[in-house]
Amino acid sequence: MFKSLLSLFFKPNCSLCERAASDSLCRDCQRQLKSCQMKNPGQFWQGDLPLFVWGEYGGKLKQAIATMKYNHHPELGTFLGRWLGEAWSKSSRSFPSKKIIVIPIPLHGDKLKERGFNQAALIASGFCQLTGYPLIAKGLERVKDTQAMFSLGTSAREENINKAFKIGKSLLKSFPHSSVLLVDDIYTTGTTVKEAAQTLRLGGIEVMGVVALSTAKKQSV
Ligand SMILES: [Zn+2]
Repeated sequence: MFKSLLSLFFKPNCSLCERAASDSLCRDCQRQLKSCQMKNPGQFWQGDLPLFVWGEYGGKLKQAIATMKYNHHPELGTFLGRWLGEAWSKSSRSFPSKKIIVIPIPLHGDKLKERGFNQAALIASGFCQLTGYPLIAKGLERVKDTQAMFSLGTSAREENINKAFKIGKSLLKSFPHSSVLLVDDIYTTGTTVKEAAQTLRLGGIEVMGVVALSTAKKQSV
């Protein structure tokens, strides 16, 4: 109540630089973030698990993702998710015969408690606001806590993530004949999303691909 009264008198501040802003981010931070945007977000849309990605993981985008996750700025997730949805809608990708549903990569319960939100779910919700696709927030569940991936080598990563997910109870019944887009914040080696996609496919669910806010993959210019 007190907070909402205050917001009548004060403009909210930019989540990244604290300057006054009319949105979650000031114009200057938005401009810097947009410089991280991929020129061709569909360049990795190929192969067994195609990837559509908004930006290159580095600079301001890396800062924004870290601020969202570790300094408790969930609003940045929805904000950037809308940009991802905008890029997806603008790309000429159209799938007229498919019913698309969106599932975020889940966090394990302990991590979720600690952080208070799942950043992939927030990005997915912004993405769905723009695209109009249904968001199935609990389409996948984490059944195993996994170690932070960046400290592990490739085979250890695969071992670590093996059987980390299960299909959410409501998913199979509610959305037959749909194709899933998985959403995550950062695509690194793809180990996590591949395991998630495999879990869904083994359950008879079609997976169309992955949309991610950022990747460390090098873009071809
Ligand atoms: Zn700013």
